[in-house]
Amino acid sequence: MFESFNALINEPMSRHTTLRLGGPADYLVFPRSPEEIRAMFTEAGAYNVPVTVIGHGSNLLVLDGGIRGLVISVSKNMRGIRREGNTIIAQAGAMLGSVAAEAAEAGLSGLEFASGIPGTVGGAMTMNAGAYGGEMAQVVTRVNGITPEGKPISLNNEEMQFGYRTSVIGRMNFVVTEAVFTLMPDNPEWIRERMAELNAKRAEKQPLDQPSAGSTFKRPEGYFAAALIDQCGLKGYAIGGAQVSMKHAGFLINNGERSSDFLELIRKVQQIVEDRVGVKLEPEIRIIGEELSTCDT
Ligand SMILES: Cc1cc2nc3c(=O)[nH]c(=O)nc-3n(C[C@H](O)[C@H](O)[C@H](O)COP(=O)(O)OP(=O)(O)OC[C@H]3O[C@@H](n4cnc5c(N)ncnc54)[C@H](O)[C@@H]3O)c2cc1C
Repeated sequence: MFESFNALINEPMSRHTTLRLGGPADYLVFPRSPEEIRAMFTEAGAYNVPVTVIGHGSNLLVLDGGIRGLVISVSKNMRGIRREGNTIIAQAGAMLGSVAAEAAEAGLSGLEFASGIPGTVGGAMTMNAGAYGGEMAQVVTRVNGITPEGKPISLNNEEMQFGYRTSVIGRMNFVVTEAVFTLMPDNPEWIRERMAELNAKRAEKQPLDQPSAGSTFKRPEGYFAAALIDQCGLKGYAIGGAQVSMKHAGFLINNGERSSDFLELIRKVQQIVEDRVGVKLEPEIRIIGEELSTCDT
């Protein structure tokens, strides 16, 4: 199956996630065009194989048993970025940092907040990625994709139903192929200065030198997850190779090889915070794949 797409077989997902964790995907493919994505869905449908879509893997915990079926990653080959007037049109695999840099070069402001988010345009549409008061919902005017039935789909900002770290993609399950960002003309120097300021702030506060998936938990209404975790004395708390970062308690980092440790740490932090301060933390990261069955261990 999937030979014509040069699929990697039994490919460890730890090679494709920023957490450096995750068991094997049965098949991993890197489409070069929307047409190829359509053909992949057709082949997967013919064999009744489930399909999972990923970008840069910067918001994913893939479990140790890996992912059954086909994994489509747009992050390698669909990275084109072009400018048309006040818009930037980027393919789904383009990294947000590159899109923000291209916008700055073109003297277009609005994506400064996104320049340090280490994900693709596709992942950012699903997550409504945001930082420092900005989010995708403020700058995205159109999103194009392919549905699991192989049909093209094109949604405007309202139809995307962006919310806090969510969009309609979670419910409709289409693959983003391209997004249009409508931006404001500004001085390229000033745009670059703002980007540099935000990225310096990020480097000062976040453990960027250690494998993570960014903030592990969503911001609970009226609180900050990091402050609650810190308040419970959990900075540095570890289970196996998974640890609450000493630098930023909202980041759980990985120094090991087992997703099961990471998952256990997430659950433990949730339980302790709920018991001590009465707030239920919800993961922001997406947990996908299968746990190892006991006979595999
Ligand atoms: C150090 C660090 C800092 C971070 N800082 C921030 C931050 O400030 N703000 C923030 O919002 N996030 C942050 N993140 C999290 C992450 O970078 C974002 O959520 C990002 O948008 C995920 O993009 P990705 O391409 O890595 O997607 P992935 O992690 O690969 O996937 C995330 C979700 O998007 C879906 N998806 C991916 N590509 C597509 C596609 N083409 N079509 C349809 N669905 C798709 C996947 O199915 C999955 O559900 C950070 C992560 C790290 C490691």
